[in-house]
Amino acid sequence: MSKPDHEVVIVGAGFSGLCVGVQLRRKGVRDFVILDAAPSVGGVWRHNTYPGVAVDIPSATYCYSFEPNPGWTRSFAPGAEVRAYAEHVADKYKLRRHLRLNTKVARADFDETADLWRVRTEHGELTARFVVCAVGPLDQPKNPDIPGLAEFTGKIVHTARWDHDHDLSGQRVAVIGTGASGLQVVPEIAERAAHLDVYQRTPIWVLPKVDFPIPAAVRALFRLAPPVQRLVRFLTTVASEVVMVLGIVHYNKAPFLVRATEAVCRAHLRRQVPDRALRRKLTPRYGFGCKRPSFSNRYFPTFTRDDVELVTDGIERVTATGIVARDGRERPVDTLVLATGFKILELGAMPPFPVTGLGGVELGEHWDRNRYQNYEGLAVPQAPNFWLMNGPYTVTGASWFSIIEAGATHATRCIVEARRRRAGRMVVKQAPHDAFTDDMRRRMKGTILGQPSCASSNSYYFDRHGDSPYVRPQSGLYVWRRARTFDLDDYAYTPKR
Ligand SMILES: Cc1cc2nc3c(=O)[nH]c(=O)nc-3n(C[C@H](O)[C@H](O)[C@H](O)COP(=O)(O)OP(=O)(O)OC[C@H]3O[C@@H](n4cnc5c(N)ncnc54)[C@H](O)[C@@H]3O)c2cc1C
Repeated sequence: MSKPDHEVVIVGAGFSGLCVGVQLRRKGVRDFVILDAAPSVGGVWRHNTYPGVAVDIPSATYCYSFEPNPGWTRSFAPGAEVRAYAEHVADKYKLRRHLRLNTKVARADFDETADLWRVRTEHGELTARFVVCAVGPLDQPKNPDIPGLAEFTGKIVHTARWDHDHDLSGQRVAVIGTGASGLQVVPEIAERAAHLDVYQRTPIWVLPKVDFPIPAAVRALFRLAPPVQRLVRFLTTVASEVVMVLGIVHYNKAPFLVRATEAVCRAHLRRQVPDRALRRKLTPRYGFGCKRPSFSNRYFPTFTRDDVELVTDGIERVTATGIVARDGRERPVDTLVLATGFKILELGAMPPFPVTGLGGVELGEHWDRNRYQNYEGLAVPQAPNFWLMNGPYTVTGASWFSIIEAGATHATRCIVEARRRRAGRMVVKQAPHDAFTDDMRRRMKGTILGQPSCASSNSYYFDRHGDSPYVRPQSGLYVWRRARTFDLDDYAYTPKR
């Protein structure tokens, strides 16, 4: 029998990887390592440090159910606090000893003769019986495909890799992109730069933000009486879940909810932007929920400033010193900020490194050719002993923590069961995999993403096949329950050799 170096390798030390570590330890599995390319934990919150970065759902909801954070200083916590929370979790749950930081995984190959994974990193090879890939879909910054970008001689910064040594004061800055990151960074840049041009392809739905400091007395109360904080978490989670699930997932049962939310956004825009022509440019023409909406009280007013211009004509090309829009004008630029998001549902990003399973099938190529498909958002019949967290058909519910905990629960249940059965190999059966995928595709038709109004949204929720596998069209509560109750016999087990 060939014994691997570790029982489990977890790739990624963001909130997903840390959660798997916590759950494995709780179940008595101690022989695991958590690999991460970065020098510290926190994932997206380590990488995204642009001015204004913050959570865009209530902080009370944005935390593990088992570790509420009484320390959030605002109702929408700033990114630095989320990062500190990740460090706290790593310490409190004794995960430091399992961390292998500065260790980028280059590929993972299943060795069929020994029933183990060969995980190649920049420091050499590790073997493991099980791999949980927790790399997160919002990890690889995406640069826009605009002619001339490579010839630009000024400074280029992506929001996901902010350069804090670069001073924007007195500069002419252009921001490309008006998604969730653009919305947060634009008001901050306007405060610092001499002039700001914002290049918008698709406007974003923006809700008013109930953003306030959490008084020290309330934080002290949360510390002294954790059940009070759990109650607040429960209430904010239910509220967010209702908007997400009724409005987006069960769109065709209550379309009026989406229309009502759009009306709230339009009223917010009317209150903040008196100019009708500017308002028209900032109003989305697709349904709320077709792409990620956000909250802000500062985004719209930024466009009413004399030193900020919203450019909606589209970009023709970038020159050495500026941007030529389709209106034919060249606007000079010193610093170009790319708020253009991430590579998500595409070959090379999902998964972010080659994963070769049974019969030499590479997972990314398989999905690219045959459309995204899996079992419970995590497993495929081609890859034994392997779970990809936050892959296709996972995102739902109030916050990512609900899907992270559900994914970690699923993978941990499997690993514990394989140990119990002394299995060397466990692999999801084809029939439950196909049934789950069919069910997801069928349900998707009733969501907002199945509506024609999403066609103009340029949303990263859609892939090149026209599918929208980013979202799992079920409630967070259902997914939470399902992770605890799915039939472990949906997997086939082979004894250790
Ligand atoms: C700016 C921003 C704001 C967000 N705000 C919210 C919010 O308000 N609410 C919400 O619910 N969600 C939000 N999200 C979504 C967020 O992605 C999740 O909430 C969550 O943090 C994801 O955690 P993760 O561990 O799955 O992935 P990540 O945080 O992406 O962690 C993945 C880790 O894997 C590592 N990694 C990647 N490739 C490799 C490799 N080849 N080898 C080794 N390590 C690798 C990365 O370095 C990273 O540390 C936001 C995302 C972003 C980008």
